[in-house]
Amino acid sequence: MPALERWFCWRRRFESGAAAGLYRGVFLGVVLLLAGPAALLQGGESGQEAQWFKGTTHSHSLWSDGDEFPDMVVDWFKSRGYQFFCLTDHNVLMQGDRWVRLARQRRPIPESVLEAYLARFGDDWVEIRGEGAKREVRLKTFEEIRSRMDEPGKFLLIQGEEITDRTSGRPVRHVHLNGLNLAKFVRPRGGATAVRCIRDNVLAVEQQAKEVGRPMVVHVNHPNYGPFSVSARDLAEVPEARFVEMCNCYSNVHHWGDQDHPGVERMWDIANTLRLIEKKVPPLYGVASDDSHSYHDAPATRPLPGRGWIGVRAARLEADALMEAMIRGDFYASTGVELAAVDYDPAKGTLHVEVAPKPETRYTIEFVGTPADAQWTDDKALATLAGVGKVLASHSGTSATYRFSGKELYVRAVIRSDREMERPIPNGVQTETAWTQPVGWETRVLKNEER
Ligand SMILES: [Zn+2]
Ligand SMILES: [Zn+2]
Repeated sequence: MPALERWFCWRRRFESGAAAGLYRGVFLGVVLLLAGPAALLQGGESGQEAQWFKGTTHSHSLWSDGDEFPDMVVDWFKSRGYQFFCLTDHNVLMQGDRWVRLARQRRPIPESVLEAYLARFGDDWVEIRGEGAKREVRLKTFEEIRSRMDEPGKFLLIQGEEITDRTSGRPVRHVHLNGLNLAKFVRPRGGATAVRCIRDNVLAVEQQAKEVGRPMVVHVNHPNYGPFSVSARDLAEVPEARFVEMCNCYSNVHHWGDQDHPGVERMWDIANTLRLIEKKVPPLYGVASDDSHSYHDAPATRPLPGRGWIGVRAARLEADALMEAMIRGDFYASTGVELAAVDYDPAKGTLHVEVAPKPETRYTIEFVGTPADAQWTDDKALATLAGVGKVLASHSGTSATYRFSGKELYVRAVIRSDREMERPIPNGVQTETAWTQPVGWETRVLKNEER
């Protein structure tokens, strides 16, 4: 059965079941496991050889608070070798007639930005109206940009939105989620708590995926933004959520946490430990992103492009195939390290990682996981407990294999390099690093019928 058809088959089976709303994402994860690692390793059942595609899922343009025309943003990424790209402006899809005034009161658009736009795309493409202070430029829509920029097998634009929400309860929690491969606008659902807010927005995207009939992904963004809007406990309490930005590359998202709050990578481990031990639901997969807003000679403290991205293994450069691969966990997050292979073999109990090395760069491959007997008394204790997100093994070099002992809740790999990122993040990650997804947890989650 083709992968997409099988995916819908799973969804149909699941949606007709009891407790459908609550455990849909979980069920999907479980069925993916039952479908077997072969599908994961071969990138589905398309018969085509799977390959890695580089792309990114969180960027802004003049459609909301970015400082560049959307087609110029797309061009920035395409011209630098990204193969897929998702513009995710705040609470808007790039649809309909939208004009921006160059002499905006807040953050006017410099003449040089318009000149560069005209130089790149030409008079025939750029639409300008009005004179003087009333001069306006029309923002191109998703469909217009896609028809100009997409190249089959080379570059793909995916429709997305940053669902930008906040809680009605105090203290206010800023809950942002990126919906990917959307067909329709998603209105932020609100809610008294961060848990409610995350759940209702994730379910809104799930509902749209069902109505439209195509796979969509939704990731919880920058949990420590706000500050500290979304906790590891919150992430554990929403089984429907399946993705989190474990490395948002903006400098103001409290990536390292503080004395009372764990850093985001550690939160990822805490949330996944809670999900597996307490909730018996699959772990969250981790995404790295730029959250780029600033495209013009901005200081490193601004959200610049070209820092965080994902490598997705799929048979084809098509939005549905990429979404399915992400749902399978067949991708890694990166700030520069490229991987040649990530192979998890549950039959042999091995996780094998190979780097696509850059010259004059040294690599260390760490395998990180939580032992199944990790214990804690409360969130704070958990945050400091040595057993959660422990380095289980470490190797120097460009490839390594981890052998499961059977006592791990899950294992993931972190590939560190000594190469500084082209644009290091103040208060964030400085060196090129990659993170693979947690594996080896499949026996720890309840099957749907056991719930
Ligand atoms: Zn955000
Ligand atoms: Zn954003």
